[in-house]
Amino acid sequence: MKVAFGGISKYFGQAAAIGGADFTIEDGEFFTLLGPSGCGKTTLLRIIAGFYRQDRGDLYFGPRLMNDVPAHQRNIGMVFQNYAIFPHLSVFDNVAYGLRARKLPKPQIERKVSEALEMVELEHLRSRSPADMSGGQQQRIALARAVVIEPELLLMDEPLSNLDAKLRIKMRSDIRALQQRLNITTIYVTHDQEEAMAVSDRIAVMNGGVVQQIGAPRDIYRKPVNRTVASFIGTSNFVEGTVTAYEPATGSAVVGLGAHTLRMKLARAYEGEALLSVRPEQLRLTGSARPERGLPISGVVTRATFLGGKMHYEVNSELGPLEVEEQMSEPSEPYREGRNVFVELRTEHAVLFDGRGEEALN
Ligand code: ATP
Repeated sequence: MKVAFGGISKYFGQAAAIGGADFTIEDGEFFTLLGPSGCGKTTLLRIIAGFYRQDRGDLYFGPRLMNDVPAHQRNIGMVFQNYAIFPHLSVFDNVAYGLRARKLPKPQIERKVSEALEMVELEHLRSRSPADMSGGQQQRIALARAVVIEPELLLMDEPLSNLDAKLRIKMRSDIRALQQRLNITTIYVTHDQEEAMAVSDRIAVMNGGVVQQIGAPRDIYRKPVNRTVASFIGTSNFVEGTVTAYEPATGSAVVGLGAHTLRMKLARAYEGEALLSVRPEQLRLTGSARPERGLPISGVVTRATFLGGKMHYEVNSELGPLEVEEQMSEPSEPYREGRNVFVELRTEHAVLFDGRGEEALN
């Protein structure tokens, strides 16, 4: 089911927790609201669920205007961070709860609950009490309980936050698989950008109650629209520079970075202060300058961290501190701390912002 926000705002006192949300979530989409604590993710989810009424704007489920539809009349399955399962009921009874409330006949309840428990691989524990189960199992019960009512929409608020790192990765791929199997529109809230990128068809990056960018994970990662998004999704190096000349005929600009200059194509005319954003994995270290492989930025390795398949370096460079991440190939020796190096800076994958980082220029 499609979910559309038409200029939705929500205020707590004077402060806008949501400032004019205006976008559409497509039918069957796995859509994630991502952003730092306090950015308004949970508030938006609660508006969708009907727990909060927006102060302005319209909410649509498909063609239906939902503004005045109470929460219990919205056909929604929900999964929360704290599981919210009943410890005194068996696994089966927890999952059956919503169906009994809807007064379904007994055999139908039996069949639907069994199916839901099979989906989350808990059928063999149906008679057990959830009280002594692991966090992962409890979250599976919550998931089964959310989908057993065959909702038109699944809402999840930080469902994996209480699980350890390994289980989080397993559960997120299970959730994604279940969502695809049921083909159910899912709206997922997290502050974990890696989790968001791993599960989502599209992500809305939020900050200060405002959606900064909506897009597929790869597009947001490659083409962040501003500095806030570039910093929140993945890691970025920011290098201050100046666009010293812009040629309207070719769209080509000359960008000064310290003692270096480079050429970049821009999407619009611009001259003045600029901020180059480049990901650590797009930089390379070499022992000697090879300008044909990118601008040779000189520096000293201040920290070299072994991360298994890759090395992470911090370099104190002539353009300021830079982070570099390199895949390790077996025969190569990592650069040691204190070593003089050149950072090869190429601009194909770099994004140039205006000086305040508010707008991407290329
Ligand atoms: P978190 O990840 O910490 O839950 P969030 O992105 O989900 O953060 P919200 O909980 O939606 O953020 O909060 C958005 C803003 O609205 C915050 O500034 C918060 O303090 C404020 N807020 C949320 N709920 C209420 C409330 N019931 N009363 C007053 N202010 C609220």
